[in-house]
Amino acid sequence: MMNTQNVISGADLRQTVNRLVQTAPVTDMHTHLYAPEFGELLLWGVDELLTYHYLISESFRWSEEDYDLFWSMSKREQADWIWKRLFIDHSPVSEAASGFITILDRLGLDVSTRNLDDYRQAIASRTVEEQVDTVMQIAGIEKIVMTNDPFDPVERPVWLAGNGKSDPRFYAALRVDALLNDWPHAVSELQALGYEVQAEWSQRTQAETRRFLKEWIVRMDALYLAVSMPGDFVYPADDHRSSMIDDVMIPVCQEQKIPFALMIGVRRRVNPGLKLAGDMSMLSDVSAVEALCRRYPEQKFLVTMLARENQHELTVLARKFRNLMIFGCWWFLHIESMVEEMTRFRMELLGTSMIPQHSDCRVFEQLIYKWEHSRKIIGTVLADKYERLQQSGWQVTEDEIKRDLDDMLNRNFWRFLGK
Ligand SMILES: [Zn+2]
Repeated sequence: MMNTQNVISGADLRQTVNRLVQTAPVTDMHTHLYAPEFGELLLWGVDELLTYHYLISESFRWSEEDYDLFWSMSKREQADWIWKRLFIDHSPVSEAASGFITILDRLGLDVSTRNLDDYRQAIASRTVEEQVDTVMQIAGIEKIVMTNDPFDPVERPVWLAGNGKSDPRFYAALRVDALLNDWPHAVSELQALGYEVQAEWSQRTQAETRRFLKEWIVRMDALYLAVSMPGDFVYPADDHRSSMIDDVMIPVCQEQKIPFALMIGVRRRVNPGLKLAGDMSMLSDVSAVEALCRRYPEQKFLVTMLARENQHELTVLARKFRNLMIFGCWWFLHIESMVEEMTRFRMELLGTSMIPQHSDCRVFEQLIYKWEHSRKIIGTVLADKYERLQQSGWQVTEDEIKRDLDDMLNRNFWRFLGK
């Protein structure tokens, strides 16, 4: 029997969902953030926020100047340049620009003064440890999954010194992009690390690549392997990627009992002048994911795609394969209208059995706006669904609302990992 004391009635329902969604603890299952132990890799503060690649490309919409002029400036000058174009000469209404304003306000700064130097100084006066604590508390984030690359010469020594796991709020994900997308580069990196690999796909090379992955999964306690793929990724195919997946990635993931995360649909450097800001999205082939899920029913796949046009098909595919967990509204989809659209049809097709959002943050304070904006939308969509149930006489308790939010924002990820 249901405890009728806890039933939320009528108008209180939406209010209750909105209140609970603001405070539900979050596991942010894919970010580019780092624990403070990683030093300069952890980006934070006003200049890093303003030079976020989303804002770089937006600010060039208002400039005739040479790209090289921008890249020759100091970080602080770049930040000033972007501030003028996106915040002073025009109103900051885009998702990324308004997000910066959300951050300043929630950190207690007076955005009405528009005095960038004041904001810069106020934030720079804190220690990185203080700022990490403050931001995680404001954003309600309990656990953060990083993106970790053993080939990165700045990152690698932190792991080798055994310092990568000292902050229990941060978890590792082992990034394997070079192995799949730039094999010649991976070969030279692996050789430099002492693995006996060669460009040719020999048994020895396969075994040594597996050894590399195993050793680094263990060293990092990596929760999953992760790769970002171009939209023209096909599987199965008679190519290096399929061989690497079949002979190395899947055997290692199965042995280590971890999922394989695929982020599919990037078209790199469509405008090389913009550097990291010059990437584009492209339509992908969902049947590659279908083939992987069917061939490896015991292997779990975390998948997100970048093209809006792929989202519905991918969500339908998740109805067919329980080893597929779809997650997040990635990059150009991480905007109010797309998050709402995707969250709505995902919930309509999958109920709460999905991971509606990850932040993909690169700069620490971005957690504040990315999660505040997303929480609001997830709450709105969930409240709509509860209201319809209520009209048929089905009543939800506060505990059930908390459970559903916890599933989507936290537990679904850990349950999928088998933890
Ligand atoms: Zn990412």
